[in-house]
Amino acid sequence: MSEILPRGFVFSQSNLQAFQNCRFSFMLRYIRKLPWPSPLSARSASFELDQAAGSMLHSLIHQYFLGIDAELLRSCAEAFPDARVSRWLERFLASPYSEILPNQYPEHSQQIALGGNLLLAKFDLLHLDDDAIQICDWKTSRILLNRVRLQNRIQTMVYALVAVSANDSKTRPVSMYYWEADFPDNPIIFEFSPQQLIDFRKTITNLIHTIKSLSPDEFIRTTNLNHCSYCEYQTYCSRVGIPKDEQAYQDWLEIGLLEN
Ligand code: SF4
Repeated sequence: MSEILPRGFVFSQSNLQAFQNCRFSFMLRYIRKLPWPSPLSARSASFELDQAAGSMLHSLIHQYFLGIDAELLRSCAEAFPDARVSRWLERFLASPYSEILPNQYPEHSQQIALGGNLLLAKFDLLHLDDDAIQICDWKTSRILLNRVRLQNRIQTMVYALVAVSANDSKTRPVSMYYWEADFPDNPIIFEFSPQQLIDFRKTITNLIHTIKSLSPDEFIRTTNLNHCSYCEYQTYCSRVGIPKDEQAYQDWLEIGLLEN
């Protein structure tokens, strides 16, 4: 078993996604903890704007669930230099997801032990009802994400697994709502079956086992240049990737939103 992971390392949706994107990027960011220099390619322009706008929307929705007055939040959105944020906030406030209910936990982190490892989920909103658990995730994608790809995303698996294990929900169904700010009427909803949860546990456990079993020189660069397009470590690899891959764009955007 590899000893190169920092002691007490906590696995999460973002570092597992980074590993799945590219083992070398995982090594640079989470093991060597290297800073990232300016990217080589066009990642910077629209990517940085999208990340800032997405981060602002998450912050406003978080404050909304903490009880901050909606008018105050509107004025903050209007003052933000990207007009999309106001539009997204209005759509959110008009959506059923803005309903304030008991036992809602915005920007909530939970951690579980999985096969002797720590696994963390950072939920945008967790609703622990007496007879159900709902996970909400706000997204600001430029195109509506594919349902099958979302279902197989590390994030979906980690969220469902942590929500079930951390909240003693063996008898409570767990569902997940991906709400897209630019497609507010097309939420993507998953209701997880017991078999799916077993499969998620197996997949995530195997992924963690793989990471821990690698020697340093096995954290190799991805052969899929799509992943390089928006990677923060392009300069280390002298790669600019293939621009306009939406899935890669979303993967790195999410990692940035969660960790920067
Ligand atoms: S630029 Fe490509 S190969 Fe290099 S770390 Fe990033 S994703 Fe991996």
